[in-house]
Amino acid sequence: MALKYVDEVSLQGKRVVARFDFNVPIKNEKITDTTRIDSALPTINHLLKEGVSKLILMSHLGRPDGKRVAKYSLKLVGDYLAAKLNTEVILTESATDGGIKQLLALPKVKVVLLENLRFHPEEEENDPEFCKILASYGDVYVNDAFGTSHRKHASTYGIVQYFKDRAYGGFLLKQEVQALTKITETPTRPFVAIVGGAKISDKIKTIERLIVAVDHLLIGGAMAYPFLKAQGKKVAKSLCSDNDFELAKKILQQSSAPKMVLPIDHIVADSPEGQAQSCTSIDIPEGMMGFDIGPKSVALFKEKLATAKTIFWNGPMGMFETEAFSKGTMDIARALADIKAFTLIGGGDSVSAINKSGVASKISHISTGGGASLEFIEQGELPGIQALKFGL
Ligand code: AMP
Repeated sequence: MALKYVDEVSLQGKRVVARFDFNVPIKNEKITDTTRIDSALPTINHLLKEGVSKLILMSHLGRPDGKRVAKYSLKLVGDYLAAKLNTEVILTESATDGGIKQLLALPKVKVVLLENLRFHPEEEENDPEFCKILASYGDVYVNDAFGTSHRKHASTYGIVQYFKDRAYGGFLLKQEVQALTKITETPTRPFVAIVGGAKISDKIKTIERLIVAVDHLLIGGAMAYPFLKAQGKKVAKSLCSDNDFELAKKILQQSSAPKMVLPIDHIVADSPEGQAQSCTSIDIPEGMMGFDIGPKSVALFKEKLATAKTIFWNGPMGMFETEAFSKGTMDIARALADIKAFTLIGGGDSVSAINKSGVASKISHISTGGGASLEFIEQGELPGIQALKFGL
């Protein structure tokens, strides 16, 4: 069954209960980055223009762990939305507040924002009763929260059972699914993936899936060291857990392993706070730790990327938060911007790097969901999206 999106159906006069990802960073009672709310506006504006009778907005914010925590209130989100939409946005006392039904019965009430779903432990537990309460607010369900669609939570998953043939995806979800599908189904070749970051164990499933699908898999960041060690190279004090070392050995035994490209030089120091030094060999000198890929590795990676037609990137090439160890990551970010290929960045630190390098506008698609995009690559699907397609 095909996934239907909000622009493929008429929603005029309907009560629409819609899940978004308004999980924005807040500092000193101010939203410091409104990207996630802004990404939801096309769907919200479309629904309002369509003439829905009520729009009930749902989201989580932060990790209140099932308790009411004032700093995680959606109040600031509601204020921002009201200003952007130029309409009143009523924030409820809680997502299960007994007064919501009466509120929705008032003709002049249009847009209602439910207070943080994760103030209720039932949200993450996918509690049936909680699903039923959320579902009771609408005739139609919309999911535009791509970043949480890998979770089987009440508002992203369980709720769908109450909307047989009345559950739709929003525009952000559509963009994400269309972009990621270009990678998971028939990527234009050569297809090159760059995976970096701290640990192999965190991304083992992604690596296993990618190594089969790609032409080259470039590995940077701390996760390169267990592979180098497994190849008999010296990694000295670099991050390399026993668990990651075992995983690296296993991956290197696979028939696709020759597609893997590892760093050939490094930027090292004796500690994270130490003086950065260049290490021109693959082997890292005793007492030193690798914190970034070196210029020869950047050149090698660029050579593999040069002819690529599809590129996926997740995870930094080094401890890029520290200026002295950020060059490898920044160089790769800039290289991606210059290549004529379909380029997709899968959330998290690689997104900060691409934003910091000032070339974000040259990337074909920057995913709003780190965990969700990785899981989509692994499975070709997410529970929340599958529910929209097939119901529960
Ligand atoms: P991840 O969330 O798995 O993508 O990992 C990102 C984190 O890995 C960032 O905080 C980086 O600072 C860290 N990281 C990447 N490379 C290294 C390295 N060579 N040594 C220490 N930390 C690293």
